[in-house]
Amino acid sequence: MSTVQATGSHVEPSVPVLPDGLTLKYVAEGAANVIWRISLPDGQITPPPTIVEEYSGSTPPPSEVDVGVDIGRENGTTKSNGADIPTPATIATDYTRLLLRLRKCLPSSESNLLAYEYLSSVIMPLFPPGVMVGQELVSLPPALVMRANDTLHALEKSGIRPAHRQHLYLAGDPRPNEQQMGEGFAFLLEDMTPDTSLGEFLLEFKAKWLIQSPNAPGSWKRCRTCALRLRKYSRAIKKGKRAEWRGLCPFDLASNDQKRTKNAVRWILQPPRSEDEKLVERVTVALMGCPQLSILKELQASLDPKGILKADHKSKEFLTAMTLRDCTFYVKVSPTDVQARLGDFDVKSGEAGKSDYWIENERELIEEGWYTGTEEGDYPWKAEGLEVVCRA
Ligand SMILES: [Zn+2]
Repeated sequence: MSTVQATGSHVEPSVPVLPDGLTLKYVAEGAANVIWRISLPDGQITPPPTIVEEYSGSTPPPSEVDVGVDIGRENGTTKSNGADIPTPATIATDYTRLLLRLRKCLPSSESNLLAYEYLSSVIMPLFPPGVMVGQELVSLPPALVMRANDTLHALEKSGIRPAHRQHLYLAGDPRPNEQQMGEGFAFLLEDMTPDTSLGEFLLEFKAKWLIQSPNAPGSWKRCRTCALRLRKYSRAIKKGKRAEWRGLCPFDLASNDQKRTKNAVRWILQPPRSEDEKLVERVTVALMGCPQLSILKELQASLDPKGILKADHKSKEFLTAMTLRDCTFYVKVSPTDVQARLGDFDVKSGEAGKSDYWIENERELIEEGWYTGTEEGDYPWKAEGLEVVCRA
């Protein structure tokens, strides 16, 4: 359980109910969730009234989806790149730009209701519309989960489900089963899937620590993220594992300097895309112009002024700062547009040894000289011209 208390402990009556006749198509899965593409069965163009009522003001018309839409509801309008676009009720049946995320029977995972309460009370108020990946809580008809689980079993039998994900199914299935776990809700997510036939692709990266750790020594040469990467490299090679010591510097990314941002963008794009100068330029301009980086940077500074070593690890502000240091950028690049969203806002808690882990990590970075570039050892970055030095 998190120490970040979500507001409210009961279901809001306005949570819309998904129709149980939706067609489900397996898209992908992570450790705790399975993502599905959903559609109304052929021939059905109007969903049950609950959905029309709940989504009339939020589900975007297909013609406007491409400019980037937040599926969050606000004043009966759809937020699109910060602008209010009135949405007619007739498009309420469009699920084509939404994905359904169902939770697995993973005991360590938080219920969708709690996850949503955390998001809506703690995270969403921090950002203006259109900055986060749009997401909405929906109530699940049990029959839908049963069908989804049947599909997972069938995918397993046909060898399509990844081997390391097998034998763990979805929560909320009412049938008796050794994995039974209650779950009455799911998330509808804005679909960031790129249409490769249109030349689109998706970039995913974590911007990590956009400002220096308040606990870093005054004589620091490296940002928190680069210092940690080098330390991880040193640990990996000692164990005979491979690791990369070069990578994205968050300070470059958030520098507001075109040349430095370009360097960061090359790491994000990776070869061969990073060799396409026009593409590098386009993504650089887009990221410099998007609100996400400056908002995250300001929030990381204001929510954790003391740093891991001095902060109260039970405070909502500190834990939120840790969440914001670990969220993910989803950047959809099309031949004409670049669209950035933030997602992956996992609740952080200092419990279960996490707090000790954070402190130990920070102490080692300081005491072993990873911030100051005084670490002991013969490393590739010790060679002239290869030094890792970050600038605020
Ligand atoms: Zn750096």
